[in-house]
Amino acid sequence: MSMTPSRRLVDSLTIADIAIDGRLFVVRCNHCRRTTYFLASDLATYYGPQTLINTLFNRCSQCGKREYMKVTHRLPDLDDDGALTIRRPKQIWRWTDEIYWQDGKPPSRGQFRPKR
Ligand SMILES: [Zn+2]
Repeated sequence: MSMTPSRRLVDSLTIADIAIDGRLFVVRCNHCRRTTYFLASDLATYYGPQTLINTLFNRCSQCGKREYMKVTHRLPDLDDDGALTIRRPKQIWRWTDEIYWQDGKPPSRGQFRPKR
């Protein structure tokens, strides 16, 4: 009997399935020969835990090619501690214009309304 998981099972894996035991995603472009590591938990936060892993990393961010991408996952080991570089999302401040309300919500009708 084959030990390889069925194609259907692999295609139905979500980021949450990989993140559950603290795994790392290993994303390799065999054209650029570049390997990037991601925490599965970071990807779950960024893309959503139910995102299918076969929808991620379809294209190399450096060369743009699809056919050379290889995405695997593995558990971190002791040799990774203090040595492995992982790519993590960086929080970016985004500013929007909003009306000021003292309690964070508008006053009910009939109460103070600003004069124009
Ligand atoms: Zn590439």
